[in-house]
Amino acid sequence: MRTLVRAVVAAAVMLLPLSAPPDAQAPVVYKVSFPAPEHHVANVEVVFSGVSAGTLQARMSRSSPGRYAVHEFAKNVYDVHAFDGKGSELVTSRPNPYQWDVAGHDGTVRITYKIYGDLVDGTYLAIDPAHAHMNMPATLMWARRMDDRPVRVTFTPPAESGWKAATQLFPTSDPWTFTAPNLQYLFDSPTELSAYRLREFTVKNPDGKTFTIRAAVHTESSDQDIDQYAAGVEKIVREAVTVFGEYPEYDTGTYTFVADYLPTNAGDGMEHRNSTAVSGRGNVRNGLGTASHEFFHCWNVERIRPQGLEPFNFEEANLTDSLWVAEGFTQYYGSLITGRAGISDVKNTVRNMGNLAAEVINGSGRQFRSPVEMSHMAPFVDAARAVDPTNFSTTFISYYTYGGAVALALDLTLRDKTDGRITLDDFMRAMWKAHGKPGGPQPGLVAKPYAVTDLRDRLAEVSGDRAFAEDFYKRYMIGRDVADYARLMQRAGVVLRKRNAGRAWAGEIRGGQEAARIGNLQAPGTPAYDAGLEQDDTITEIDGKAIASLQQFGERIAGHKPGDTISVSFKRRNGVAQSTKIVLTEDPALEAVLIEDTGGAPTAAQKAFRDAWLGSKQNR
Ligand SMILES: [Zn+2]
Repeated sequence: MRTLVRAVVAAAVMLLPLSAPPDAQAPVVYKVSFPAPEHHVANVEVVFSGVSAGTLQARMSRSSPGRYAVHEFAKNVYDVHAFDGKGSELVTSRPNPYQWDVAGHDGTVRITYKIYGDLVDGTYLAIDPAHAHMNMPATLMWARRMDDRPVRVTFTPPAESGWKAATQLFPTSDPWTFTAPNLQYLFDSPTELSAYRLREFTVKNPDGKTFTIRAAVHTESSDQDIDQYAAGVEKIVREAVTVFGEYPEYDTGTYTFVADYLPTNAGDGMEHRNSTAVSGRGNVRNGLGTASHEFFHCWNVERIRPQGLEPFNFEEANLTDSLWVAEGFTQYYGSLITGRAGISDVKNTVRNMGNLAAEVINGSGRQFRSPVEMSHMAPFVDAARAVDPTNFSTTFISYYTYGGAVALALDLTLRDKTDGRITLDDFMRAMWKAHGKPGGPQPGLVAKPYAVTDLRDRLAEVSGDRAFAEDFYKRYMIGRDVADYARLMQRAGVVLRKRNAGRAWAGEIRGGQEAARIGNLQAPGTPAYDAGLEQDDTITEIDGKAIASLQQFGERIAGHKPGDTISVSFKRRNGVAQSTKIVLTEDPALEAVLIEDTGGAPTAAQKAFRDAWLGSKQNR
């Protein structure tokens, strides 16, 4: 039902430019001011004109693009008033927690409200004397059935604040007034007002079109630090484009890194079409990994967009099958591109790749959910909050990690199968041509979002091998198989090996200072789990000898070999004493290292494979 309704809405939006140009409609006009930023409050006014008769349904968003839980932005809104075109106050009613209904208007409704916000990241609103850091769904009220109206926003900074605006909104001749063609674009446009410092450079597409890439950096770090950050960003940008062969046509001719690195910030990165909001509390120079990930998103998710996120539904959590591609493939490339651009060294890149593989090889979550099913968990794990415990630590693998590992497997498999003739870059380029480059009817809209079966079909085209694509789809996209990473990585002279070879292991057992109390959930298939031990059990004896601490427990295990059986006495959390036997295994922890670091040397073929995979693609 929901899918049907949304398909109809999408079709209506796509037809719009033919039947009624957006400028034929009265814009929605916002004014946002900050008279007392030290109290973390903004005053917002929004005017809806040309409102059809009946009740205007004004709402605060429940969700925000790029975040998959509901965040209930209505909670920080207060002192709401509504007026008609003559300035007479109207009565509002509240049909649900997110909505203000306004009846009895004369075709114009002006709503004023206050909103509180004090968290700098990519999702929320933060106001203080240093800046206003705005994620629009967290800040602006909107009205149902007016999504396609153009928008005008005017900001009024505090007097003598020295603030400027950094945003992907369309500029006007007034430096404080911006426009957006529709609600989707407006809500994709985070805006930072501050005394930020700006660095910029120009890039060019094969067709000759040029774009300005900007870094607007709000930080206490030095000018030199910002220069270093901007230089790193430029390397990343010029490396990332080699994957796709061209930049997207940024709607305003610019792409902006809206970077906020202050001591009280949350570490975060949030992707948008023509910008990213990146934040952290350390030196801005440490933000290049985040910049690499987020910039890749301007292709992968912002334009190569999975079904389920298009158009984004601000009224509920948005579900998609493909976050393992949208986030996971981006995770893989974020790391690969910093490596190719020379920002992280080859040992570090290889270690990251090994960690992706290890988490999927050893992750018990794979017993229960495929990458597609992990994506369905996003509304419950992506900055979601609840008070009841979950067992996600044993039943869930992040779609960032899982998808990153699938990307690694696919890249290496394609290279292995074709002797480097076809790579994951070719696959991403095919996805770009079919689903990203065609664009949408207006900035902010995507016409050809993909399904998981499209991934399979593009893979069949790129590889020229439909049977291979079908097999990969069944085993690694909708299935729970794990690739032979050790063999694939060995082609590049990389060894995936046991980190603690020969060491006995009872399970992932942590927690407990004064007693050997198990502090974390045990994963199915591990020795402690199979022996019936679980979180909050306290181990009292091994083989008849008392155990007083978790450290002592670890020392006793270390005296054994994999395959040994130990007798364990323990108490459940209700005090009931029990005993069991644990069959120890070898510690399964894995690491990836260069063959050079194991005392070997790569062959010429391994060296060539590695360079083609991890080397820079610029100037080739
Ligand atoms: Zn991401």
